[in-house]
Amino acid sequence: MKQIKEHFINGGFVQSIGTEVQNLYNPSTAEIIGTVQLGHKNDVDAAVSAAKRAFVSFSKTSLKERAEILDRLYRSVIEREKELNELAVLEYGSPLTATMGRTRAAAVSFLTAKEAMYEVQFKKEYENAIVLQEPLGVIGAITPWNANYVHICGKIAPAIAAGCTIVIKPSEFSALQTQLLSECFLSADIPAGIINVVNGTGAVAGGALVNHPDISMVSFTGSTSTGKIIRKQSTDLMKRVNLELGGKSPNILLDDCDLSKAIPLALQIAFSNSGQACHAGSRLIVPESRIDEIKILLIQEVNKLKIGSLYDADSVVGPMVNDIQFNRVQSYIKSGIDEGAELLVGGLGYPDGLGGWYVKPTVFVNVDSNMKIAKEEIFGPVLSVIAYETEDEAVAIANDTIYGLSGYISSASLERARKLALQMVSGRVIINRAVNIEPKSPFGGFKESGIGRTGWIYGIEAHLEPKVIAF
Ligand code: ADP
Repeated sequence: MKQIKEHFINGGFVQSIGTEVQNLYNPSTAEIIGTVQLGHKNDVDAAVSAAKRAFVSFSKTSLKERAEILDRLYRSVIEREKELNELAVLEYGSPLTATMGRTRAAAVSFLTAKEAMYEVQFKKEYENAIVLQEPLGVIGAITPWNANYVHICGKIAPAIAAGCTIVIKPSEFSALQTQLLSECFLSADIPAGIINVVNGTGAVAGGALVNHPDISMVSFTGSTSTGKIIRKQSTDLMKRVNLELGGKSPNILLDDCDLSKAIPLALQIAFSNSGQACHAGSRLIVPESRIDEIKILLIQEVNKLKIGSLYDADSVVGPMVNDIQFNRVQSYIKSGIDEGAELLVGGLGYPDGLGGWYVKPTVFVNVDSNMKIAKEEIFGPVLSVIAYETEDEAVAIANDTIYGLSGYISSASLERARKLALQMVSGRVIINRAVNIEPKSPFGGFKESGIGRTGWIYGIEAHLEPKVIAF
C-alpha cells in the first residue's frame, strides 16, 4: 500500500508539514489502496514562495526556452504513459481505453501550448506606444479528480507558455495519480520552482492557495458551488480568476437525424468518463414525433454497454470515484423516480454482480425541465430525456438552464444544425460528434459554467496582463 507523505516543491519532493492522513480507494471494490498526507497552510506557503522566486527569472525567458521546457514535460509524461494509465484505472476506476486517450491528451497539451505560444502577440508596436502582454505572476491552480492528468497538465502548459510559475492543489482523491505525474515533472529536469504541487483538502490547502497574497490568478476546474466560493474569496485582493465549472449540457436530436447513429452517440456524450464530466450531454432533447423509436433504441443501446471490465477495449462506464459520488448519483435517481419521471432503464442500486461504487447507467424519459434531474448537474451516468414539438421549443428547453458549457446537435443537415447552434447559449456546440476535434479552439462556459477560457491561445492569454509603454 502506497503512502504519500510528500509534496513536489521547488524541484523536489519534500515532507508534508500537515500531518492529517486520508485514505485512498479503489472505486471498483471500495478497498483502501493507499494514503495521502494532507498539506497544511505552511506547505502551501513554501510552494508559493518557491514559485515566486522562480517567477523572477522565468518570466523573462524567451519563447525558445519555454518551448524546450514544454517539450521536456511532454516527453517525461509520455515515457510513463503506461503506468499513468494503469493508475487511473486503479485509483479512479476509469475504463482503460478512456484513460489512454486522456493521458495522451494531457501530454499533448504541452505541445499544443508550445505551438499556440508562437501565435500569441506578446508585443505590439505602434507609433507612440508599445503594448506588451506580460505574465501575470504565480498561478494557483485547483483541479478535480475526474481527469486528473488532463487538468493538471492543462493548467501547467498555458502557464509555462505565458511565462508564469504555478502551484497546483490537485484533488485529494487522486493522490496516487498526482504522485506519479509529479515524478514525471521531476524527471523532466526543469528549473526549480516553476511547477509545484501540494496535496491537501479543498478547504485547507485549496483555501490557503486562494487566499495567498502572492497568487495572481486562481485557475480552477470543478463544481460551480466551489467556483463561487473561490471567486468570492478572490475579490478582496482583486485576484484574477479562470473558472471552468459545471454543466447540464443539452443534446438536441433534430427530427431528420439517423437515430441508429444519434442514440449511441447520445449515450457516448452522456456517459463517457462514466458521466463524471462537466461537458456531459446529460439532457437529451428529442422530437416527440419519434419518441417511440427513441425509447426502443435507448433501451437496446444501454443494455449493450459494457460495465465492470475496465481492461476490456470496449468498456465504457466505470464506477463512481468515491462513496460521496455514489450516494449523490443514487439520490438523483431516487429524485427522478419521486418526481414522476419514467424510469426507462437502470435505476437504484448496483449493476448485477458488481459492488464498489458502480451505479447502473440510467435513462429517464418524460422528464420535465423543472425536475431536479433536468436542472442539476448529477456527474454520473444518468440521462434525462425531454421531448419537444417544435424546433423553437427545443432551443428554449436547451437554453433553460443556469449553465452554458457545451451543447450537442444531431441532424442529417449540417446547415440546419449550424443555424440551430447559433441560438444555443453555450461555450461550444458540437454537431454530429461527441468531442470537439479542433485543437485551435477555446473551452469554457457561459453563465454559471464559468469565467474565462482554456485552450489554444485563449488559455495562454488568460495568464497575461496588458501593459503599455507610451512615448
Ligand atoms: P468535488 O466535490 O466533486 O470534488 P469540487 O469542485 O469541490 O468538486 O472540487 C474540485 C477541487 O476543488 C478539488 O481539488 C477540491 O479539493 C477543491 N476545493 C473544494 N473546496 C474548495 C474550497 N473551498 N477552496 C478551494 N478549493 C476547494
